[in-house]
Amino acid sequence: MPDKNDKPRVRFAPSPTGFLHVGSARTALFNWLYACHTGGTYLLRIEDTDLERSTEDATRQIIESLEWLGLMSDEPIEYQTRRAGIHREYLHRLLDMGRAYRCYCPKDKLDAMREDARRKGAIFAYRRGMFSGEESSRMEAAGAPCVIRFCAPEEGAVAFDDLVYGRIEVRLDTIGDFVIARGDGSPLYNFTNVIDDIDMGITHICRGEDHISNTSKQILIYEALGAARPRFAHLPMILGADKQKLSKRHGATGVMRFREMGILPGALVNFLALLGWAPSEAEFNEVMSMDEIIARFSLDRINKSPAVFDHEKLMWMNGMHIRRTPKERLHALVEPLLREQFGGGPEGFDPHTVVRNPALSDGEWLDGVIGLATERTRTLNDFGGILDFFFRAPARYDEKAVKKLLGAPEKVEFLRATAKHIDDSWDRALSSAHDPKLESSAAADQWCAAMEESLRSWSEAGGHKLGAAAQPMRLALTGRTASPPLFHCMWYLGRTETVRRIEACARSVSGD
Ligand code: GLU
Repeated sequence: MPDKNDKPRVRFAPSPTGFLHVGSARTALFNWLYACHTGGTYLLRIEDTDLERSTEDATRQIIESLEWLGLMSDEPIEYQTRRAGIHREYLHRLLDMGRAYRCYCPKDKLDAMREDARRKGAIFAYRRGMFSGEESSRMEAAGAPCVIRFCAPEEGAVAFDDLVYGRIEVRLDTIGDFVIARGDGSPLYNFTNVIDDIDMGITHICRGEDHISNTSKQILIYEALGAARPRFAHLPMILGADKQKLSKRHGATGVMRFREMGILPGALVNFLALLGWAPSEAEFNEVMSMDEIIARFSLDRINKSPAVFDHEKLMWMNGMHIRRTPKERLHALVEPLLREQFGGGPEGFDPHTVVRNPALSDGEWLDGVIGLATERTRTLNDFGGILDFFFRAPARYDEKAVKKLLGAPEKVEFLRATAKHIDDSWDRALSSAHDPKLESSAAADQWCAAMEESLRSWSEAGGHKLGAAAQPMRLALTGRTASPPLFHCMWYLGRTETVRRIEACARSVSGD
């Protein structure tokens, strides 16, 4: 029943026939946003009436996806199959009122009438009088199969003002008496959907534009029952980058696949919100938290032209959300992924495989290295690739870089000398970072600044630029020419491991 205070009641009504894909997730989100923005109620109704196509597995996956996105129902989930009594009651009401009837017209007759209309270039709309009288009564008496049709008005038009698409009008002579239930009384989509919306007191129906064609028929049922008609807001289609309707061909479209790809739910929600909706220019900012989106959301800013799913934009947006995630939360999300990739039990990473600065606690070290990668990631799965050298020493070095940076014996000698300088000056640099009041990351920054300065003066005193010392070191420590800031890498690897890796690299390239 409608809320006492007349607040909107909306619902998301998926049919559990497959994964929750991007389009349905956007529908759920827009309903949820509207309810949150208006202080209304958002409900979830699983439309599992079609027993042949619905599966429990799909229901479970849809609910799991909605939970992950944070779009769960404000009231207990409704399952359409458990509402059969209500559907039956309304069906009998329509039959008793004469607004629905059993139709015995056999399929071959229907087909012939349809074909005849097609030949004449006319629209075929079945009407009650087209198969009645004696033949119909005979079939009824013989218990022949039938369907239950809604008795639709024949003249005029049915019209509604869609909150997105504007006025939509359909001539009644194109509609005809449509089927609302099978002969055994089991109801069909257009009927159950309306009955549930009436019974659940739904005030606004926000769903994909593919349902516009059902709406006129559904409105006729509301009218026949004397029920208040909800407002409709149909959402524009979502297209792939090639401007074709979004489908599996475009890669990931199931919501849980995005989770596996390392997308944050807040980023996906932000991205989906902008598929067909945009905040006003005054408030325009593409990267928004859920609360910011809720505050700005309104149905009248939904656009009717198709939205384009831009995968690159999602990746970018996810990177922005990763950088906005509070440190503790990010740590909790990334740590299990690193553990999965690099091993380590619940107590921490395996101390035999992870060599790290022993001056730091596990937590400080992990926060530190996660912090080094954060700026460079687009998904949670990127952390492992950027930070792998913290978990295992490089097995090989970028060949081109070896040639360029360590291609001559004197360059290898210089690298060895660099290792010695680092070893000798490590503790001196530490003294500047030794203020116990400093946060661990601030101490790291100070040590890095002091070490950089020391290496710079030492290199320059020998007639070299800092880069001449730094680039081969980066190669030695990470195996690559690009990495998080070098001195921070050294700090988190620790003195012993830093020196050991540089020496190992020198040995490897000189073949000692
Ligand atoms: N079960 C329908 C679907 O998944 C619901 C349509 C509606 O929201 O009315 O498309």
